[in-house]
Order: sequence, then C-alpha cells, then structure tokens
Amino acid sequence: MRSLVLIGHGSHLNGESAGAVYRYAELLRERGLYDEVVEGYWKEEPSLRQVLRTVRSTDVTVIPMFISEGYFTETVIPRELGLGHQGPVPPEGVARVLGGKTVRYTLPYGVHPAMSEVILARAREVLPDLNAEDTALIVLGHGTTRNQNSNRVIYGNADRLRDSGHFAEVHALFLDEDPKVGTWPDVVKAPRVVVVPFFASEGWHTLETIPEDMGLTGAVTEFADTPNAPQTVYYAAPVGTHPDVAEVVLQLAQEARGASGAGGDEDHGHAAAWNAFLALARRGTRIGEAMITPQAGMYELRHALDEGRPAADLQTLVTVEGLRDRTRRDEGGHHRPVHTLRNLPRGWRAILTEAELPRAVHNLYPAVVEESYAHHTHNLRATPWPTTARRQTGIYTKVTRATSEQVEEVAQDVCSKCLKTRLWAGERLGSTVFSGVPGAIPCPEACTLFIAEVREEVSGKRGQGGHGHDH
Ligand code: SF4
Repeated sequence: MRSLVLIGHGSHLNGESAGAVYRYAELLRERGLYDEVVEGYWKEEPSLRQVLRTVRSTDVTVIPMFISEGYFTETVIPRELGLGHQGPVPPEGVARVLGGKTVRYTLPYGVHPAMSEVILARAREVLPDLNAEDTALIVLGHGTTRNQNSNRVIYGNADRLRDSGHFAEVHALFLDEDPKVGTWPDVVKAPRVVVVPFFASEGWHTLETIPEDMGLTGAVTEFADTPNAPQTVYYAAPVGTHPDVAEVVLQLAQEARGASGAGGDEDHGHAAAWNAFLALARRGTRIGEAMITPQAGMYELRHALDEGRPAADLQTLVTVEGLRDRTRRDEGGHHRPVHTLRNLPRGWRAILTEAELPRAVHNLYPAVVEESYAHHTHNLRATPWPTTARRQTGIYTKVTRATSEQVEEVAQDVCSKCLKTRLWAGERLGSTVFSGVPGAIPCPEACTLFIAEVREEVSGKRGQGGHGHDH
C-alpha cells in the first residue's frame, strides 16, 4: 500500500489558491498508481502538522507542489512535517521514519528535468508547427536574488531544450534580473518567438507584468519595428498549470529515495479510527455540523440544521469533489480555511457510497476523525502554545513576543467561533464524536490561522481590516 501526499501553500483568504493542487490530486487519483492521493497545506486543512496522520499507509511520498526551491520547500514544510531536516533537499530527497511510517520528501516538481517536456508542450499549444528553422523559444523565469537555484532551473531547461533541436534559438530571460525579458528584441533573431512563462499559475506577473515588459497585446503579437523585424511573438500559458505536471510528480515520486512498488502496510491507528467511525455511520451519526444517515445501501450527508428538510429543497451532490467544492465557502461566499469554524453552509445533501464516505468526511472535516479517535483512545498529544510559537520562522517569529493576554484575546475572538476545544491551552475535553458528542472535537495544536492572527495582534494590526497573513 502506498500513499502520495501533495503539499500546497493554500491561503487563509483566497478559496482558489488550493485549486491547482486539487486538480493534480484528482488527475493522479485517476491514474490509480497510488492507493491514495492526499493533499496538505500550510494555510488550509489538513495542515502540514496534521496531514501525515490522515494517510492510510505506512509508505508515504510527499511532493511539494512548488515551482522552485525556497523558503517553503527547504524550511517550512520539512519543519512542520517534523522531518528533522532544514535547508537544501538533496536530489534523491529526504527519507525518515515518523510514527511508524516511512516518509519520503522530494524536491519540488518545478526543478525536475522533465519540466522541459512541459515547457515544450506549452510551446506547442500556441505554435503547433514550431520548428528549428524559424522559431525561437524564450523560457521566462521570475529571477530572484533569494534563491540561486531558481535561476539554475531556468538555465537548465533552456540548455536541454536547446540540445533537443526543436528550436532555432533558446533563451533564458527573467523578470527581475539580467538578462531581463525587455531585452528580447536585441537577443532574439528568429521571425517566430514562443514565450513560455516558468510560473506556477496565472497571476499578476503572467497577466500583466510580462505582457507589459515585452509589449505584448495578446496571445499573438506582431512586431514590425524590432531590430530583427518582422517578428511574431506567441505567448504561452504558465507551465505550472499544465496537466503533464502530474506526470512529473509521478516521476519524482518514483525516483524518491527508497521508493518501491511494494510499498508498506495499512497504518493500524488510521484503520482503527476509520473502522470505528464507519461503525457509527452505519447507525447514523453526526460529526461537527454535519449529519450522516444510511440510506438504501448509500449514505446521505447534510447540514444537521437541514434535518427533516425535503430532499427537493436541497442541492443534491453525488461526488466527493462536488461536496468539497460546495462546502469550501460559507453562506456569505467566504473561503473556509479552517473547516471546524461554525460556518458550514446549508442547503445541500450528498449521496455517497461507503467507499466514498471516508474521503467525503475527510474533506468536510480534515483530520477530525483521526485526531478525535486518538483523543478518545488517549493517544493525542497536545502541543502547548509556547512550543508552537518557538517553532515559527520568518515573519512569524514575532509571535513568541505575544503575552498570554494577547494569545487569550485572539482565542476569544477566533477560537470561540470554532467547534474545537483548545487542548493546547489546557482546556479539557471529556468526550468526542466517538462517545456521541458531534461538536466535541480536540484541537491539539494552534492552527496557522490562529498563529497569523497572533502575529497581527503583536504587530498592532489586528482588526484593522488589512489581512496581511497570506504568506
Ligand atoms: S486554534 Fe482555535 S481556530 Fe484554530 S483550529 Fe484550534 S480552536 Fe479552531
């Protein structure tokens, strides 16, 4: 049995931030090469602290879904996963045994040499008949002084594509450093020029900065006054959203240190938690704000406050993904980065099989079954706030300066809207969903939303409307 975990940044504010990771997870699930594909996030749930608890097998490969190496892939993710590794990740990745699971952590997908194929695929989308006689390629990177490797990746791809013989010329240009993208008319001689942005997704840079710096007016722009005019520039979509990235992820996973086709066993703790939960579900149960009712060999999930409403009054969902997307936002349309905040939207019902139920409940309340069962069986260890605060790096190191009054004030505001009970603050929880109390959910460790709010409090910015915590 093998589990594949994709790690994304996520966002406390933007509900679309996790979208690319969702899509890759779906593509990889369809391929069926792993027994499960699980997503984890820095700013959403399951969090990096929780995600390993939510995987079914003892053989886990973790892929950071980032376009380049940097602070998140080298510092934040290894730290939060508890890998005991900091700094550059070696080409074969890092392997550790954590809680009885073999966990392999790889480089981010963007640095894999197979990304050259994704660049070529993007180029062919905008210019199917590109050729070595009249077509130049520009591989366009962000460029940064913070991580030397991100430039090396751009140059490496440019070298490989130059050697491939598909293009008359191949250039590596950058937004923020030399050689800058605006110099393209001086260096590119071919009459047809394909520009492929080596970026994770569409955004401000791909939609505004690059077109502006290059003088582009759309997907195809004719230039009559460049030194090598006439020239036509074909502007491709960013590499990070191409479906072939899923293939790169599979290659990375297969090449990870110690990876094998055989994999590991089913994790006992995980299996015990879900077997206990399914036993409850078969009789009908509630978890958080949701209720689960067995119905003719299937299960119906709905908001508990919608109990008794005719099915015709509710939107019927028939897939796990449909349920996930319907419940990603609250009734006001706001993103729900913490699923146990009491804002599960109403007005839907999901009809699912027993095989689909665990993933549906996982999406509704990530890690809640595993953590509640661990608490129920006295196996959940809480992490006190000072320990969580000391672990933070970068802009969050300042949370260690928060007084206990400030921490409590934030808790009164943020955690009072949450179903969870703060074990990390010494609160006691005598029951769980496993003893019949659906809203009794343990919080063993402060979540990143809470940490971000404490940072705002310490900075004197909380409640000013300016959410500065999406880093
Ligand atoms: S820290 Fe507070 S808001 Fe975050 S999950 Fe725990 S109880 Fe909920």
